[in-house]
Amino acid sequence: MLKPMKIALAVLACAAALVHAASAADRYPIDWSKLEPETIDHFSALLRIDTSNPPGDETKAVNYLKPILDRAGIATEVWSLDPARANLVARLKGNGSKRPLIIMGHTDVGGVQRDKWPVDPFAALRKDGFIWGRGSSDDKSHVVSCLMTMLLLKRMNVQLDRDVIFIAEAGEEGTSRFGIGYLVDQHWNDIAAEYALAEGGQTVSRNGQVLYVGIATTEKSPRATRLVAHGTAGHGSRPRQDNAVLHLADAVAKFSNWQPPMRLNDTTRAYFERLATISPPDEAFRYNHISDPAHTEEIQRHLAEHEPGNYSVLRTSIVPTIIQGGFRTNVIPSEAEATLDIRALPDEDMDRLYEQMRRIINDPTVEVVADPSRNRPAAPPSRIDSEMFQAFERTQKRMYPKAVTIPTMLTGATDNAQLRSKGVQAYGFGPISDESEGDLHGAHSDQERVLESSIHQMVQFLWYTVLDIAASR
Ligand SMILES: [Zn+2]
Repeated sequence: MLKPMKIALAVLACAAALVHAASAADRYPIDWSKLEPETIDHFSALLRIDTSNPPGDETKAVNYLKPILDRAGIATEVWSLDPARANLVARLKGNGSKRPLIIMGHTDVGGVQRDKWPVDPFAALRKDGFIWGRGSSDDKSHVVSCLMTMLLLKRMNVQLDRDVIFIAEAGEEGTSRFGIGYLVDQHWNDIAAEYALAEGGQTVSRNGQVLYVGIATTEKSPRATRLVAHGTAGHGSRPRQDNAVLHLADAVAKFSNWQPPMRLNDTTRAYFERLATISPPDEAFRYNHISDPAHTEEIQRHLAEHEPGNYSVLRTSIVPTIIQGGFRTNVIPSEAEATLDIRALPDEDMDRLYEQMRRIINDPTVEVVADPSRNRPAAPPSRIDSEMFQAFERTQKRMYPKAVTIPTMLTGATDNAQLRSKGVQAYGFGPISDESEGDLHGAHSDQERVLESSIHQMVQFLWYTVLDIAASR
């Protein structure tokens, strides 16, 4: 009589093993088409809240989000440095066996020039499969994806190994002291996490097919710097050798011929390698031979001319953006000044760079002065072999089996910089945009819009990735 019992036990054990083997995504199935109207409602409502920064007024967005989370039974906190600029932090508890995961979007948007817009930037107009509006791409797409993911985790009663923390943060557009800066300084113990998922990545499609999922693992650090030339003031009718305007012009011009040397890191090496696998042969050749001494000069020249984004990630870049000096035609000014937008590689030694720049300028009348007012902290890139990055790759294979996941280094700056500086492995993902759209309809453009379908895919992308990394097995 033991035998049938043993078989029964074996069958039970097998069944248990099968349940365990099934991925979390299979254990918590979602009827996506049923969810779509709710997603669009929340997205449109968020777009209609004008959170142009300045002044931001992000509390208006918090006042929209908080009751939704409260009604769902999800714990929320509102923390703010300025009551008009609140941050919302919602948390679903895990069993504590793993450290928390942050999912994050910023509620403020860049300002608009209304008369340049073909549509009302705060009407959330739906047309031809697109939703238009300031923040549709940057960054209310993340806010709504995080919101929907939290609601689904709660509704499906997902058992979690780690806390999932949703941060709807203020002030990303140039005033992070109200947002991530404040949270990291004043509430770090409440939000400390192993991983964070936020803006910065880009999912790129060609003819409606997703080509690659770009995951930002690092970014260049803004290191604004001024060149200040000093001379003797005098009458414009009498040429002077120490004319500050001339010395400044010479110094600025040096950076059209000299830039810091090329230096790849794990992210940019993998970026070019993987980009090559989905590029036409001539482009693939360039991406594969970027470090080849026989070809690098020519390839860098090509990128500088045709692919400024890909050129920028090769090195710390020095770009003059403002030049000022003088006030009257007939007065030689005693001072002239230029602003350089320096974007440093994550491990750049700025003191050494300034020394190099002084040697290149080679002019004792020109000072090189750091202007740290908009700096963000530098930190090593987040890993491309982490379980988090692997989770992104699995989600990409599930949703876009023909595509590839590519790690990227942003040339711009995001709030992930502050999280990385606290040791968080922080990653950026993003909505789908078609290659053909270029920058025309992207973040900060005056025709900002996203594909409606892209928002739904973003919700799914985040959902599958969060389940993968946070759900109990
Ligand atoms: Zn943004």
